[in-house]
Amino acid sequence: MSETMIEKHCLHCGKLFSVRLAIHKVGYGKFCPGRCKYDYRTRPPEERFWDNVQITTECWPWIGLRDKDGYGILYLRVEKQPNGSRRIISTRVHRWVLEKWLGRELKEGMLSCHKCNSPSCCRPDHLYEGTDTENNRQARKEGRHKQKRGSYNRMTEETVKNVKALLSTHTNKRIAQMFNSEPTTISNIRTRKTWKEVV
Ligand SMILES: [Zn+2]
Ligand SMILES: [Zn+2]
Repeated sequence: MSETMIEKHCLHCGKLFSVRLAIHKVGYGKFCPGRCKYDYRTRPPEERFWDNVQITTECWPWIGLRDKDGYGILYLRVEKQPNGSRRIISTRVHRWVLEKWLGRELKEGMLSCHKCNSPSCCRPDHLYEGTDTENNRQARKEGRHKQKRGSYNRMTEETVKNVKALLSTHTNKRIAQMFNSEPTTISNIRTRKTWKEVV
């Protein structure tokens, strides 16, 4: 199976580099190899937001990193832990946007819900502060169901290739989230217990 590569300009330095299409689709591959990914993060989230959103006359889909449910993830800052390790603080974009829009934090127990039922949309007037039940009801009405816990995607050769491309830079848990899989599945790929024929 051949993998599709595309050429992209690095979001930070503008240099042209090639990236696997499948990786790009899940929100990766925005930076050339090197320091750009890290340097870019030093810019304020308010600026980076506009690089990662596609403005249309309807929804504003997030084209940056997304989680397994399709919600955009916005990196905020790095926090140094007491033990010296660094923890990346990020947020779901649609929540961050709604809080900016309202000029305050969401009330306890409230969520940022989509009127348009498109998880990746971060257009402020498509969002409202609501409860989980309202959100679920809306989603059911539109036939969007969250996948049940335990119902994981089966690996295909193409997926495994993309997983392998991320092994050196991401944890099993993180990769599992991206591909709606389990960390043990990724671990087995990493240790070549499974899929060792795929390079
Ligand atoms: Zn670069
Ligand atoms: Zn929308």
